Amino acid sequence: MSMTNGQGELFESDAPTNALHVKEQTIQFLTQNMVRLLNQVGNKDFCKGCGEEVWYVKHKNGKCPPYTADGTNHFANCPNADQFRKKG
Ligand SMILES: [Zn+2]
Repeated sequence: MSMTNGQGELFESDAPTNALHVKEQTIQFLTQNMVRLLNQVGNKDFCKGCGEEVWYVKHKNGKCPPYTADGTNHFANCPNADQFRKKG
């Protein structure tokens, strides 16, 4: 496929940019929904290991792990998880 040749260049170069933009909007939308949900089910706080904004959500099994705004269990992606991970 040719990129910048002739009159179709705008159409061709616009497509990927647009798709990326839509993807970013979707992620933003999902993150907003996740934050709304986390605000309802969890307690907002800051990670004691790295300072990131987290929500502590109580699980059925009684544990209360921190979640970040993207819905990820912060135990899994905190760079300083060792500082507050006590057991199991
Ligand atoms: Zn952290």
